Amino acid sequence: MTSLTSQSAVKQAKCIVIKIGSSLLVNATGALNQDWLASVAADIVALHTAGKKIVIVSSGAIALGRDVLGYNKRPFRLEEAQASAAVGQIRLAQAYQSIFDSHNTAIAQILLTLDDMENRPRYLNARNTIDALLDKGAVPVINENDTVATSEIRFGDNDRLATRVAQMVGADALILLSDIDGLYTADPRTNDTAKLITCVENITPEIETMAGPPSIQGVGCGGMITKIGAAKIALAGGCSMVITNGQAANPLARLQAGEASTLFAATSTPLDVRRSWIRGMMAPKGSLYIDDGAVDALKTGASLLAAGVTDVKGGFNRGDLVAFVATDGATVGQGLVSYDAADSAQIKGRRMRDAIEILGYVGRSALVHRNDLVML
Ligand code: GLU
Repeated sequence: MTSLTSQSAVKQAKCIVIKIGSSLLVNATGALNQDWLASVAADIVALHTAGKKIVIVSSGAIALGRDVLGYNKRPFRLEEAQASAAVGQIRLAQAYQSIFDSHNTAIAQILLTLDDMENRPRYLNARNTIDALLDKGAVPVINENDTVATSEIRFGDNDRLATRVAQMVGADALILLSDIDGLYTADPRTNDTAKLITCVENITPEIETMAGPPSIQGVGCGGMITKIGAAKIALAGGCSMVITNGQAANPLARLQAGEASTLFAATSTPLDVRRSWIRGMMAPKGSLYIDDGAVDALKTGASLLAAGVTDVKGGFNRGDLVAFVATDGATVGQGLVSYDAADSAQIKGRRMRDAIEILGYVGRSALVHRNDLVML
């Protein structure tokens, strides 16, 4: 018997990604469920006040836009869905803004494609922007950039996008607000004996069978099978995932009060996963020679600053793996560097705050951030 619950996962989480599905946000006539969204915003502000960083992944653009354009025959052609998204996304952003304004909370719109997630410099830029927003207490509201995500849009579901976003920001919890309570042992609409599973620690083939076939019904795109796929990615990244029925008002407050849900419980943290990924990386593109003071600082979990670097070897770009070499020639650690080789050479031995003047641009506050390095 396990004591893990969705409530404890949410309580412990420092950074939470909340995915809001179209079927909750937009009613059958294509109108926004304004009161419901206001109740979600109140819940999010409460989580925020409790010190948590919150990222929203919101669907609803296509659902909000298609009636405006008079598209009413299913299935929609790709360009019809894209045109609908272009119209609906503005309305969606406006709805979020007016509701969060009343809480004096800044929201920020970010539209991403799968490509943005797979291209390293674009991924790093998106991550840094979101980090900066979260540091300032803003709430990023993310959707897929549907008008350009051509291959994605037909099958594109925000469950998967939300998982990738959770990974990118190092979230420790992902909540999928959906129109179902969670994962059942069988389809509850057709089987009276179906039971809700409250906690899943391992996604076994048996669990996958319970998810049944993919659903493309209703207003949104994701079915239970896509949610299980999302859970696999989340757990592998050290992020717990919760599925709950968000249809009633204040769904997050309800969840915290024990509303029915399924928790996919992560057994590691996003930082542990990131560090073991960096530990497993091979073939560094270059080396940073560091002094004894830097070695001591790194051992206590600090970032590597330019002041501790005595020499730079190799040709590496920003984001590449570099080795840390101590004064005795031993490799003591490795990490993903925030400056390329030429810039690293220019700022070595100097204070990070001098880097702006030396390089002529404002870069990262460390040569290698503490979350991007491991000692070997
Ligand atoms: N990105 C789509 C939209 O905003 C929704 C995708 C989904 O429902 O998962 O309309």
